[in-house]
Amino acid sequence: MSKQFDVVVIGGGPGGYIAAIRAAQLGFNTACIDEWKNDKGGPAPGGTCTNVGCIPSKALLQSSEHFEHAGHGFADHGISMNDLKIDIAKMIGRKDAVVKQNNDGILYLFKKNKVTFFHGRGAFAAAKDGGYEIAVTGAAAETLQAKHVIIATGSNARQLPGAPFDEVNILSNDGALRIPAVPKKLGVIGSGVIGLEMGSVWRRLGAEVTILEALPAFLGAADESVAKEAAKVFKKQGLNIELGVKISAVENGKDGVSVKYTDAKGAEQTLAVDKLIISIGRVANTIGLNPEAVGLKLDERGAIVVDGDCKTNLPNVWAIGDVVRGPMLAHKAEEEGVAVAERIAGQHGHVNFNTIPWVIYTSPEIAWVGRTEQQLKADGVAYKAGQFPFLANGRARALGDTTGFVKFLADAKTDEILGVHIIGPMASELISEAVVAMEFKASAEDIARICHAHPSLSEATKEAALAVDKRTLNF
Ligand code: FAD
Repeated sequence: MSKQFDVVVIGGGPGGYIAAIRAAQLGFNTACIDEWKNDKGGPAPGGTCTNVGCIPSKALLQSSEHFEHAGHGFADHGISMNDLKIDIAKMIGRKDAVVKQNNDGILYLFKKNKVTFFHGRGAFAAAKDGGYEIAVTGAAAETLQAKHVIIATGSNARQLPGAPFDEVNILSNDGALRIPAVPKKLGVIGSGVIGLEMGSVWRRLGAEVTILEALPAFLGAADESVAKEAAKVFKKQGLNIELGVKISAVENGKDGVSVKYTDAKGAEQTLAVDKLIISIGRVANTIGLNPEAVGLKLDERGAIVVDGDCKTNLPNVWAIGDVVRGPMLAHKAEEEGVAVAERIAGQHGHVNFNTIPWVIYTSPEIAWVGRTEQQLKADGVAYKAGQFPFLANGRARALGDTTGFVKFLADAKTDEILGVHIIGPMASELISEAVVAMEFKASAEDIARICHAHPSLSEATKEAALAVDKRTLNF
């Protein structure tokens, strides 16, 4: 006999596990199926984000930043370090331990919230009795009967044709997070978030890093002034970034990888590296889901087709996160998970796509919310801009980290905040104030009139809001 559930969630990444917890909180008998295995073959829920994405990348960024500070930054503080060394195996081991804490935390949360967890692959078997039959294969082979299904099967790294990942020399994000020794030369194809973060980790540890990017503009999604500042800083740090390249061939040999490409000036070039990370985007994952069994509609790129409420073409089947349209971000997946569970409960689940923050955890960090200056121009919106540099912020000076600025964009007439762009220390944390402000439709003047603690980096946010009206106090 099949086990009956109100809600079955397929995929236990940030979208799926959060959706399952919220559904259980709302009183639904809920199951979550996830197939990710740890190195012992056991369950490792948390998806890409926990296992080979957000969490391990931040763990390595932290370790490599400590190493870089110890090597260079500490000297200014009068701290000298002799014979500085890095034990890569220990660093990777620490990263793995952080991942495991998160995997275990999710299993604990499932228990606490009475979500039934199945370790295995979930696939549609049939539409039956007004619901769906889901076959689980793997460690927990079962057939489940679901009234509602939430698909949260995530995404996989996009392959570059002719350069298959072997995770030894040609690496996806997975291999890039467990290189056993610092490569002398590291190539990265793609200068998006993942390429920049991974490139930064290994550069800080001593690799000579070259990033090859097909697009002519650097960080095209960011505000132009932020992208310009970032390009300047990264170059100074020693990241070689080549824009407008066309890759013609990638050869994986026993001594490393050779990348043939045409540079922006049309000249043929070859880049020889020990390891090559390919980070050219991610593709929606429906492998093994068997969407054909129930007629679930996918688009031409393989993503599940959903409406603004994450409803698929099938009644009571929903899809969230990386497997659907929209930004491939963990917090976007989580918000959709909560919203869908609430919609199933007849509530008004809500995701505001205009206030989803973007963060790049390089040093300096880059974060933004809302529209860029170039988007406002293209949309014909009259706006005012205000900018404040961290160089003029007391806390940033005390930290010894004065790179970058906070920039506000506000409606010329109403002063409503339309976008906030930050490059600098702790941008990932500072952006939350801007998200809250935009969610509440605040004006720049609202932020300018709020008391911010002194000395704090957040004073730069207040000053940038004051700058919109040309009233900065400290610059
Ligand atoms: P996923 O996290 O991919 O989870 C899907 C899960 O479903 C997986 O566990 C998979 O095994 C399972 N699954 C798939 N098919 C089946 C099936 N048929 N049956 C059972 N289980 C199945 N985002 C951020 O917001 N911040 C960051 O800092 C950040 N850093 C990143 C760094 C890297 C290197 C990478 C690669 C990504 C990063 N991301 C970051 C993106 C983030 O990881 C994704 O947006 C997020 O994981 C998407 O969540 P999801 O739940 O949709 O899918």
